[in-house]
Amino acid sequence: MFFDNSLCLTCGSSLGYVRAERSLVALTESDGTLLRADGTPGSYRWCANRELARCNWLVAVDDAEALCESCRLTSVRPNDAEVDAHVAFADAETAKRRLVSQLDALDLPIVPRAGAADADPEHGLTFEFLSSRGRSVTTGHQSGVITLDLSESDDAHREFVRQQLGEPYRTVLGHLRHEIGHYYWPMLVERAGLLDEYRSLFGDERASYEDALSQHYGGGSSADWVDTHVSQYATMHPWEDWAETFAHYLHIHGGLETSDAFGIEVGEPSRSAGAGAWASSTAVAIGPMIGTWLGLTFALNAMSRSIGQPDLYPFVLSPTVVSKLDFVHRAITSAAAGRSAAGGRVSTM
Ligand SMILES: [Zn+2]
Ligand SMILES: [Zn+2]
Repeated sequence: MFFDNSLCLTCGSSLGYVRAERSLVALTESDGTLLRADGTPGSYRWCANRELARCNWLVAVDDAEALCESCRLTSVRPNDAEVDAHVAFADAETAKRRLVSQLDALDLPIVPRAGAADADPEHGLTFEFLSSRGRSVTTGHQSGVITLDLSESDDAHREFVRQQLGEPYRTVLGHLRHEIGHYYWPMLVERAGLLDEYRSLFGDERASYEDALSQHYGGGSSADWVDTHVSQYATMHPWEDWAETFAHYLHIHGGLETSDAFGIEVGEPSRSAGAGAWASSTAVAIGPMIGTWLGLTFALNAMSRSIGQPDLYPFVLSPTVVSKLDFVHRAITSAAAGRSAAGGRVSTM
């Protein structure tokens, strides 16, 4: 059963996602209430965004909210008259559900900006999904508010921008993973006492952002960025390097979770196979994870080529990039360990 499914392809029963369990459950309907097909306790209804956002998440029947916990995080969406933006909105919500589920898996707290007992109206998280038709929308993050230009969900537009910017990857999920990286920086780096190590790896984030921006789009970045950065955009400023590396960590984590679920095991490639510049003999906490990932992506790229497709994973992880990914890995895992030592998660909603 795949994360996005709402129907079991084998038995035809409805499937809904239970966030607290991070799983899809098979359902039967009784008097308008959804019950678990396996008879275990739990009664639900569909999220009110089931049609509009293709949402397959469940809401407990005793919950007063109409929307599921993922859809509730969105404070701005196209209005009902902007029908041509609804497909893009559903795509963005689908990517967001995957993001929320992954943040849960990593035990990263999601404090909503509104609509919950533990909401933080100043720094809590909220998403604004805006159609840029007839106005200008900039995808970005500002103290908890993540804005997405819905035209990023249009394949032709996104592919055009991707080629203009020379990016190997440009996806809606990638945007959300990048912006949420900005959101977590103060918690995972600054407040965790990791600023010195962060600056030694990524650079000093106090450097002028405006200068960096004009230099970047003025063609200022050197061609050997692959040795030091996970993407060309990451070279712009230490903030962006963190967000790009954080997003890439989520790509790797998400990819490995999926391969695990399917029982796919390739093993680490030998260096002579040319699978990348990094060797697993480098002693870092993320080492085993990167070894598994390189083996998997090496095989998947070969698979892509064998059916005439471009590489599924068109990246090279240099030793410096692996050190940065390792920093992200340690920042996330130690924050999660700190919260469980302190008696549970800071917040779930
Ligand atoms: Zn929903
Ligand atoms: Zn950014």
